[in-house]
Amino acid sequence: MRYKKVILLAVCLLAVLPAVLLLPPQAVPVIAENPKTELSVFVPVIMYHAVIDNPNRIGDFIITPQAFENDMEYLANNGYTTVFPSEIIDFAESGKPLPPNPVLITFDDGHYGLLRCILPILEERSLKANVNIEGAYTEQSTIEDDHNPAYSYLTWEEIRLLHNSGRFEIGNHTYGMHSLTGLRKGCRKNPGESLAAYEKALADDVGKLQSILAGTTGVMPRTFAYPFGYVSDESIPVLRSMGLKLLMTCYEKPNYVSVNDELPLILHRYNRPGNMSTEKFMARVLTRDN
Ligand SMILES: [Zn+2]
Repeated sequence: MRYKKVILLAVCLLAVLPAVLLLPPQAVPVIAENPKTELSVFVPVIMYHAVIDNPNRIGDFIITPQAFENDMEYLANNGYTTVFPSEIIDFAESGKPLPPNPVLITFDDGHYGLLRCILPILEERSLKANVNIEGAYTEQSTIEDDHNPAYSYLTWEEIRLLHNSGRFEIGNHTYGMHSLTGLRKGCRKNPGESLAAYEKALADDVGKLQSILAGTTGVMPRTFAYPFGYVSDESIPVLRSMGLKLLMTCYEKPNYVSVNDELPLILHRYNRPGNMSTEKFMARVLTRDN
């Protein structure tokens, strides 16, 4: 009987484990947040990943272009204006005004669907978005040069095209720290790792992608997305020293940005699952706390 319970428990754990590994942690952030004031601007941020034109493929991190278009239609109908991360940084840094009801659209990992499915929608509607690139995936895709339209990553040249379109700003999502398989979770400091060793590892990895992206687009990225949402206090001075002024988490919470907020800004994002209606998702994203 006891063995059966143990086996049942093991089966349950195995069933849950993949979901735990995929989903970003939802615990209270360990990093300090910028304070909300009377003059703060509410800035909702949406986190998308892959976009595939096949309803059979939708999931927590895959949506159809139609769902994205519905989201954009909803935001426009409700008076929201898409902004670039650089506009949010400029507002915090120098008080340059944001449009009324700004919203930030972000894509993580750099999937090929952005070029194929999303760029035409952004161009048609004159919208702005951000993509956070993972260096190793891009390098692999560039070397293989064999796009599977259903599921693959952008190449360096395609990232340049997105940048040149004027519809995307390009951010950093680490060169090779997008992993949960080793001791390190994303780009978080390992337990027992010295601060100096951690800072060097992070600076080497993120700095490598900063250099490549600056060479590819002509612009040094100013935004960074934590892989899998694994944030850490120790990362902030390192990222700041590389010119990164807006850091993105996976905590599903509202953001409030003020002039003269301390940089880097830390913005939280709502993951857009492919199987949720636009109305239900947006009700969560556009809810302010009081
Ligand atoms: Zn990612």
